[in-house]
Amino acid sequence: MTTIAFIGLGNMGGPMAANLSSAGFNVRAFDLSQDALDAAESHGCEVAASAVDAAKEADVIISMLPAGQQVRGLFVDGETPLFEVIKKGALVIDSSTIDADTARSVAAVGAEKGIGFIDAPVSGGVGGAQAGTLTFIVGGSVEQFEQARPLLEVMGKNIFHAGDHGAGQVAKACNNMLLAILMAGTCEALNMGVKNGLDPAVLSDIMKQSSGGNWALNVYNPYPGVMENAPASKGYQGGFLTDLMIKDLGLAMDISQQSAAAVPMGSAARALFTLHKAEGHGRLDFSSLMTFYQGKKGQ
Ligand code: NAD
Repeated sequence: MTTIAFIGLGNMGGPMAANLSSAGFNVRAFDLSQDALDAAESHGCEVAASAVDAAKEADVIISMLPAGQQVRGLFVDGETPLFEVIKKGALVIDSSTIDADTARSVAAVGAEKGIGFIDAPVSGGVGGAQAGTLTFIVGGSVEQFEQARPLLEVMGKNIFHAGDHGAGQVAKACNNMLLAILMAGTCEALNMGVKNGLDPAVLSDIMKQSSGGNWALNVYNPYPGVMENAPASKGYQGGFLTDLMIKDLGLAMDISQQSAAAVPMGSAARALFTLHKAEGHGRLDFSSLMTFYQGKKGQ
């Protein structure tokens, strides 16, 4: 049976590991947080004492960490880099959203040691991770993509091969920059409508069926009370942190600088989310940008 090491059991990694365990895989899980380990154990994962302990006998290692620094630290630069203990011929699937340069350089170090490493960032949020309907955007060789596909299909519904190493991260940065722009625009329009006497639910229904329809309106409405399961209706808890969106917009700005691609809308979105963070909302879901437009401070 395929043994999977799963490292990083947060909002996204926790449910992804649980889905692999439910599908019958032997999942050896590790996180720095004891709460995350306890939750993974309750979902049928075997808890490992360390990342090394989880990874050393694994056929596939999946990482779901905050940023490039943690990914490089885990596989290449740490006290015991995992590339020193992972079996030759094993495959690392890094689903964290990180910069494409780190993804390419870590893959190159792995290749020197006979270990595969692909970037496979995801889209679809915590709901998609729980439901096993994520979109995976893979950068790596065709052979590595085909090797990973059966596992990705357990955790996701749409599996794309974007291109060679790093291409998954570039595509992900394009997508999240667009998401940030759409969320800011959706908050802006809803706020203007409500200030002019409209019911936010009625206005949302109208725009969903009109040319302004978009993902934020369809599944992630930022106005409290409009959509029962959206973070907006749960005090903007859980979901996708403002801090992580700002990180992703920083990755998009780096790509735009390296390629001289103009991103005025992305830059404006980054400025808005950064101002929102400066008011103390970095740890709230990114749809809390709604409160920035409403002028609510320091929640
Ligand atoms: P999170 O902060 O909830 O989880 C990250 C987990 O990694 C934490 O449990 C933390 O303890 C653990 N961790 C950090 N360093 C570690 C290490 N060295 N060893 C072991 N564990 C370590 O973040 P998340 O929301 O699960 O996001 C993870 C990644 O997925 C990020 O790159 C994010 O940008 C991306 N992402 C998130 C969403 C979302 O909706 N939350 C959607 C798509 C992509």
